[in-house]
Formats: sequence, C-alpha cells, structure tokens
Amino acid sequence: MSENSSKKGISLLWKISIGFVLGILFGFLVGPSVSGSPVLSGYVMPFLDFIGKVFLTLLKMLIVPLVFASLVAGAASIGDLKKLGRIGVKTLILYFVTTAIAIVIGLALGNLINAGAGMNIEGLKAEAKAAKPMLEVFLNIFPSNPLDSMVKANMLQIIVFALFFGVACVLAGERGRKVADFFENIAEVMYAVTRIVMQMAPYGVFALIAITAAKYGLSILAPFAKVIGAVYLGCIIHALLVYSGMISLFCKRSPLWYFKGVQNAAITAFVTRSSAGTLPVTMECVRDNLGVSEGVSSFVLPLGATINMDGTGLYQGICALFVAQAFNIPLTLEMQISVVATATLASIGTAGVPGAGLIMLTMVLTSVGLPIEGIALVAGIDAILDAARTVLNITGDAAVCAVIASTEGETLKS
Ligand code: ASP
Repeated sequence: MSENSSKKGISLLWKISIGFVLGILFGFLVGPSVSGSPVLSGYVMPFLDFIGKVFLTLLKMLIVPLVFASLVAGAASIGDLKKLGRIGVKTLILYFVTTAIAIVIGLALGNLINAGAGMNIEGLKAEAKAAKPMLEVFLNIFPSNPLDSMVKANMLQIIVFALFFGVACVLAGERGRKVADFFENIAEVMYAVTRIVMQMAPYGVFALIAITAAKYGLSILAPFAKVIGAVYLGCIIHALLVYSGMISLFCKRSPLWYFKGVQNAAITAFVTRSSAGTLPVTMECVRDNLGVSEGVSSFVLPLGATINMDGTGLYQGICALFVAQAFNIPLTLEMQISVVATATLASIGTAGVPGAGLIMLTMVLTSVGLPIEGIALVAGIDAILDAARTVLNITGDAAVCAVIASTEGETLKS
C-alpha cells in the first residue's frame, strides 16, 4: 500500500471514531424527546435509519464476491495442499481454544458478580433438548449447488467450494493459472469497492449508534448494569489477556499495533453487530494495517466470521449463570463444564448476524436444564451486549489471522 493510502486510512479512522462518539452523544441527547417530537420521530430518526440501512446493505453487498474471489485467489496462491491443510488445522485449534477460554472467563465473571441473585424468578425447568446430530451439521457444509450457496450467502458452503476451486486452479496448470489470475483481479477490484463503501462509514456509524443510543438511553441500562458490565469487562479482559498475549508471543508486535490496526473493523462491528457484515472491513484492516497476505487472510477471516465467536461464547457463559441465579437454580461445576462444551459448539453454529447469539443461548440453557424463559430477561438488553460480543468475535478472528501469518513465516507490518 502506498503512503498516500495509509494517510487516507488515518483520516478515515479519525472520521469513523468521531462519527461514533458524536452518534452516542446525539442519541443520548435526543432520545428522551423522540416520542414527543414529530420532527424527530417523523423525519430525523427515519432519516438516520435510512442512512444506517444503506451502509449495512452496502457492506453486505461486498461479502459474497469478495470472499469467493479472494479465497479462490488465496487458495491458488498457497497452492501447496500440505500448507493449506496445516493452516486449516492451526486455525481451527486456535479458534476452539480461544473460544473455550472466553467462555471460562465469562463463567468466572458470572460467578463473581452474581447479577441474578435475589431476583427470585419462578419458572418451569425446561426439558433438555437433543442437540442436532453432528454429522448433519458436517454434511451441511458441502454445497450441492454452489450458486445457490452464493445466492443464500451460506458462508461455510462458499468457503468449501472456493477451496476446491482454488486448489483445482493449481492442479489445472496453465489454464488454471489464468482463472486464478482472473479471480485475483476480481478480489482487487472488490477491495477497491470496499474502500469506496468505507467512505460512507463515518455517516453510517453515526446513524446506527445514534439510533441505538436514543432507543436505550442511560436509564434502561441501570437494572441490568451488572450483566452489561460483566460482558463488557469480560470482552476487555479476553482481548487484553488472550489477543495481546498471542500478538506479543507469536507476532512479536506490541498489542497497541494490533488494536490500532483493527480499530476500524472493531467500530464497524460495534455498530453493525454483525461479524459477516464487518468481514470486508476486517479483511481490509488485516491486509493493509497488519500486513497479512491474501493467502492467509482470505482463508482465516471468512472462516472466523462464520465459526469463531469468542464474544458470543463469553456472553453465553455470563448469561447462563445470570439466568441460573435469577431462577435460583444452582449450576454445579459439572454443569458449568457442560456450558463450556455446549457454548463452544453453539458459538460455532452462531451466524455472524445481529442477535444470533441470543437464539443460540436457548441451546445452552436447555442443555443444562435452565428455563428458556431466561431469554426474555436478556432480550431487552441484547443489542447492547451484542455490540460488545461482535467486536470480540471479529478482533479474535484478526488476532488468530496475524498469528497464523507469523507462524507461516510472513513478515507483518511494524
Ligand atoms: N452478532 C454476533 C456476530 O455477528 C453474533 C451473536 O449474536 O452473538 O458476531
């Protein structure tokens, strides 16, 4: 990347941060008067809603072509099947381990803050539901019709097909090389489209965060402050301990370098509450700011946005305990261990879209016999929790990506 574009990057970073802060201030300020003001409720808020939705839609527009083209080009550029397999195994292990640690942090905080104590909510014990057969989940990653997978934006199926396609480009010799080049060019163009869309980010970020801040205000937060505080604190602890540790240990870079590099993606994740929607920005940050190659980032990041959800796991740990405490159901150590296992699986199955983690929380609750009615307790504040967990979800993908690149001998930016 030229000096010019990095200069542009810095100013965009500032603009997005300013949009974020102004959006929060604006939302808190106008929030209480929205319902009483026809101008605010009839014009200003719908206009902000429109701007926010356009930004979200444009981000979504990038995902399928960007992921497919860059993954085909990436797989073809790695070429060596052994290397691809090695990267795959390392990635999966890191994803599993970091998610399990996040859930343990969540459970520890949940025990510590005891947020549900004294709520004494009566409820029926839910029957434990049988989990979806693992084989069926596995079978579903193979696309019977790749175009259908693209139309439906089924990320795992797109990843599987792109890997086949990219590897086959290498096996097909000279003609395959031309096809891989073609997709590499498409990927470059899609990165350029991403940069165009990101010019809108400061306004999109402002609009989205203003709407949320106006809707929730400060007063609603108070009764659930402990749960909100625990989820935010847990995310910060996990990022500071696990991601900073991994970056220092494997990449030999300062955590500050990493946090600054992923800042745009973190803000985008916070306001969009979607890992999948943030993916193009995460890819841009990791490539341009951290210096990870296309080969590694195009494989590790889309997979991470689909299956690696540290924030979601952490949140499920905290919420499981919160619900248990609120309903006066003791969660034994064995049950908490079972929460780690189920929440790890649940976070893998969680789609990278807003609110998906709340739906998967039902699976975690039922697996240890907690009442699903507990969902209602969390639902009111879920958007606030979702913002934090999505940031952790995507920053976790970026950290693993940088670690994989380092261990593959790539020289990261300094
Ligand atoms: N919104 C989260 C994400 O996109 C998923 C969740 O709801 O936990 O990463």
